[in-house]
Amino acid sequence: MADSLSHAGTSPSVADLLAARPNLKMDGVSGLLMDGVSLSTIAGKVGTPCWVLSANTLRTRMQRLSAAMQQIGSEVSIHYAVKANDHLAVLSLLRQEGAGADIVSGGELTRALKAGIKASDIVFSGVGKTDAELEAALGAGVGQINVESKEELEILSALARKNGKTATITLRVNPDVDARTHAKITTGLAANKFGIAFEEAQALYAHALTLPGLAPVGFSTHIGSQITSAAPYRAAYARMATLIQSARSAGLDVSVMDCGGGLGISYCTETEGQPEALAGAIKAELGHLNLKLAIEPGRWLAGPAGILLSTVILRKEHASGVPFCIIDAAMNDLARPSMYDAWHGIIPLSAHEAAGPVAPAHVVGPVCESGDTFTRDRDLPSLQRGSRVAILDAGAYGAVMSSTYNTRPLAAEVMIDNGTWHIIRERQETEELWRHEIVPSALT
Ligand SMILES: *Cc1c(COP(=O)(O)O)cnc(C)c1O
Repeated sequence: MADSLSHAGTSPSVADLLAARPNLKMDGVSGLLMDGVSLSTIAGKVGTPCWVLSANTLRTRMQRLSAAMQQIGSEVSIHYAVKANDHLAVLSLLRQEGAGADIVSGGELTRALKAGIKASDIVFSGVGKTDAELEAALGAGVGQINVESKEELEILSALARKNGKTATITLRVNPDVDARTHAKITTGLAANKFGIAFEEAQALYAHALTLPGLAPVGFSTHIGSQITSAAPYRAAYARMATLIQSARSAGLDVSVMDCGGGLGISYCTETEGQPEALAGAIKAELGHLNLKLAIEPGRWLAGPAGILLSTVILRKEHASGVPFCIIDAAMNDLARPSMYDAWHGIIPLSAHEAAGPVAPAHVVGPVCESGDTFTRDRDLPSLQRGSRVAILDAGAYGAVMSSTYNTRPLAAEVMIDNGTWHIIRERQETEELWRHEIVPSALT
């Protein structure tokens, strides 16, 4: 499997990694640059660990995605999946580029509105929305709620009636196709908790049309994440087209199809998911059905826009001959390697180090878990105490998944835009970690 920690012998070289990432360049003097800005300078001024985001990358990827969707010839709205990277600066930038938001919680609703995204451009997804979250969405006038079960349909109908609102909804259908991705990020199989079984969808849609407080407009689907080929999309959309035609034949109005997210990126040697191929799959299967279409991309937009900077605390030699490079970033910062066995490129910031000979090394964080491992047995340029590295493609499901495990404050975040850089989140102060803790008086 491509998304795996251990790639002994097959790792792309520093040169390969750089060649595939237009926002990164190695300068002989300044070292690794992102959009022309020295990452060593940022690491020196802000400290490490530190996330760095390229505004230009977010912008150009959003523009490419929009252009690809225009080829379909029907209206296609893009709802950015906020969970991938929910920073207000990211949401604001993507809003400027025409994106709405796909949210999965009341917190994300508040964030998206705070970033200036109009409620009507927000889609609310998720398998377990609380009553309070649904009422907040109804109150704000969220554009669409993707309902994931019969139970949720009844709850939402009752809440809408109680609040004197009408909820525009789709039914999220589980098309039972295998996205051929990691088990923890596949969502479109019948065995997953997500969505309504394909076989039950039409009857439930007919039922929804009879419920007060609801305005059912169509269907949605989302089959998983890190999908790098068009085939699973085509299979899912072909199933959805059958459902839409069948519902229409039964006299049910269907005007909307929300095609979900999941487009993958190239972390290691995978071929990046192509927006044009996704658009092709949508057009081929759904383009002739006169639908209002939508997509919900997250990772594809944000992943390649971000890196995590870290410093080698020490290099621990080992009897096996393979050293442990212990860095100051850990699983609490970037959880993907420990959580999904994810592979992330690691590049020294120093041009001299990056050009040196490679040898197998383990790169690990300082957290007290064996799972706190970024890579094992990877051929890497020699890293010494004080060496700085960039961990690549960390813009999606990176900072958002951070925890403060081991009382490690959340890392700082920087955004590079137009040749200058800005701190967009201060490094958390240790005192903030216990600000809400209350020690019973008998213990003080
Ligand atoms: C997570 C999610 C997305 C985005 O997935 P990516 O793989 O980041 O594109 C879109 N829609 C729904 C319903 C999701 O849960």
